[in-house]
Amino acid sequence: MKYQVNSEGFYGPYGGAFIPEMLHSNIATLTESYQRIINEPAFQKKFHNLLKDYVGRPSPLYHAERLSEQYGTNIYLKREDLNHTGAHKINNTIGQILLAKELGKTRIIAETGAGQHGVATATVCALMGLECIVYMGKTDIHRQAPNVARMKMLGAHVEPALSGSQTLKDATNEAIRDWINHPVDTHYIIGSVVGPHPYPDLVATFQSVISEEMKWQLKEKTGSENPDYIVACVGGGSNAAGAFYHYLEDESVKLVLVEAAGKGIDTGYSAATSVLGSMGIIHGSRTMLMQTEDGQIVEPYSISAGLDYPGIGPLHAHLISSGRAQVFSATDEEAIRAAYHLTRVEGIIPALETAHAFSILDQIGAQPEESVVVCLSGRGDKDLATYIEYLDEQEGNRASHEKTT
Ligand SMILES: *Cc1c(COP(=O)(O)O)cnc(C)c1O
Repeated sequence: MKYQVNSEGFYGPYGGAFIPEMLHSNIATLTESYQRIINEPAFQKKFHNLLKDYVGRPSPLYHAERLSEQYGTNIYLKREDLNHTGAHKINNTIGQILLAKELGKTRIIAETGAGQHGVATATVCALMGLECIVYMGKTDIHRQAPNVARMKMLGAHVEPALSGSQTLKDATNEAIRDWINHPVDTHYIIGSVVGPHPYPDLVATFQSVISEEMKWQLKEKTGSENPDYIVACVGGGSNAAGAFYHYLEDESVKLVLVEAAGKGIDTGYSAATSVLGSMGIIHGSRTMLMQTEDGQIVEPYSISAGLDYPGIGPLHAHLISSGRAQVFSATDEEAIRAAYHLTRVEGIIPALETAHAFSILDQIGAQPEESVVVCLSGRGDKDLATYIEYLDEQEGNRASHEKTT
């Protein structure tokens, strides 16, 4: 197994658990017990029952005929946007809330940037009747009012992170501090394949249901379990990890990641970690991250709040540096245009994060007889204001252009 985590918690040189002494007992308990617990038949049964009846899985694999025709290949969309709460994140929070209960925890904490993971966590806490505290940067609380309202309605306590730039990395620091202070009763639900071992593997395992379904769905539709390409956007990398998981060791399946270039890779407003990043330690994991020469984290930027994380999960750092995965990037504008294109051609409004994945489909070189699966990680309701603003600007520009000519 070249690409799976090893017994020390590393993916090649990346990963591990670089944590303060005070977190050791929590992390050690998780590391020792997570595989045993999640592989128990009773756990698997509860997990899969909830995925089926509560989340609505299996999510469809849809053959997008018009898109396929335009790109001259066979494009399939893995419809994670149709899950309860509108994205893939719920797969992980369902798994982790069941794990927390097995561990006897009564209090749940989480960090969130855009609020998507916060909502997915608040949802499963309501479902299980557990106390929920979501740390969120004060800046993000102002930017993401609808998701804050959802979390509150679900009964979560949204705790503002007031340090630093008051965004995701500060919320994560606050959550870690909370966990250090409440080691006995609290489980920390991390929202992507990031953080100290075993989190990247834990989250990837829960998200792997995506590629588990893809295998039989593709077999049914094409006669083969394998596509030629799998394309996914990458913030921390959990939807990509889920879509790649069962294909990692099969190198005939090409893995494609799309990261957010923001306003452009060289503009100083970007989240293209694989190009701008270097090896370092962030949130307990050795991985690729955007940092200054003296190791300060560089604030990332993307129009999509779900992709502006300054690092990338250690699995993906390994896939990229070993050449197993190819990386492309898309700017804000390219992502928005791709979102409009998908909407007008297939009648599906994608999340802004997801739209990045669609913007590079003409660049991968897929042939007419080949097949491409795109992980449609989430729906675009939350991004409507951004989409409409763009359309208004375009129409405004056109109107003023027509006036002057
Ligand atoms: C959070 C989010 C992402 C980015 O997170 P990953 O861990 O990289 O998957 C992508 N798409 C949607 C819809 C999201 O909500």
